[in-house]
Amino acid sequence: NAKRDKADSHVWFSQAQADDDPDTLRLETDLREALSAGDQLFLRFQPQFRLSTASLIGFEALVRWQHPVRGELSPADFIDLAEDAGLMTALGDAVVNLACREFARLRTEVGLDLPVGVNISPRELVAERFVERIAGCLDQYGLPSSMLTLEITENVLIESPTIAAEALARLRRRGIRIAIDDFGTGYASLSYLNRFPVDVLKIDKQFVRDILLDRNDCAIVNAIIGMAHNLELEVVAEGVETAEQMSLLKSLGCDTLQGYLLGRPMLGSDIAAFLRTAERISSQIEAA
Ligand code: C2E
Ligand code: MG
Ligand code: MG
Ligand code: MG
Repeated sequence: NAKRDKADSHVWFSQAQADDDPDTLRLETDLREALSAGDQLFLRFQPQFRLSTASLIGFEALVRWQHPVRGELSPADFIDLAEDAGLMTALGDAVVNLACREFARLRTEVGLDLPVGVNISPRELVAERFVERIAGCLDQYGLPSSMLTLEITENVLIESPTIAAEALARLRRRGIRIAIDDFGTGYASLSYLNRFPVDVLKIDKQFVRDILLDRNDCAIVNAIIGMAHNLELEVVAEGVETAEQMSLLKSLGCDTLQGYLLGRPMLGSDIAAFLRTAERISSQIEAA
């Protein structure tokens, strides 16, 4: 088995060898444990603000892993691992469950009535009974479908168009909104996306980062916003870090912003306190 052959592992690092790396194997075992034991995985929630009304309109859930030895790990440290180890649907189910539970709690305890966006990997979307599992989770916590948005990446629509279209149509019928994440980094055109029941387009942060410095990036963002609006999609800009980026995005007609400028990803238990400061952020947006 070439994959298990370590003969020349001292020469080059490769994905095949990474599979055999004791560190990776160890982390995989730890992740299995975290998924069955249950309190190491948690979510941070990042706020999103609508520019036209300067108001908070929702949050995105971002998974974290509190590893007993390595500390707080980000998705970049373990999503690929989960994927390779066949743990992605289990991880995805855990995330959907945590997000629904927290937003059901916030709804009853704080009166929060805003949607939460959950990232869905391609493998989850095309998995057996995906829509039923989502619907079951909403039912379990008594959360209305309108409080859930699913974020998918454009490539799953190219790689598995038939299964994805079927799943999206059934989600739409239940009133669950769909956002295309990291738009511009994959291979789909806007006209292609428009064949699917999509509601929101999230412009990848790589285009936002240099929007003031790079004329090409600015032109791309401008074009995406224009076309998205013609197709009646709501546009979210990710990774907004400065007031200057906010002003420019506002002048380009972007609908919604998400980024460190308006709020870092926070614990669910900190959302109530955040809501009390949202007024101040709204003034900042109005002044932009
Ligand atoms: P994403 O869905 O595009 O999420 C946005 C990422 O940008 C998050 O990174 C967030 O912390 C980061 N971010 C937010 N504002 C700013 C900013 O102003 N500047 C910069 N530089 N970054 C900002 P994070 O949490 O590390 O997540 C990375 C990616 O991992 C996500 O990208 C998403 O693709 C994936 N991911 C996160 N949570 C989940 C999950 O529960 N399930 C799945 N399948 N994937 C997830
Ligand atoms: Mg996302
Ligand atoms: Mg993104
Ligand atoms: Mg991403």
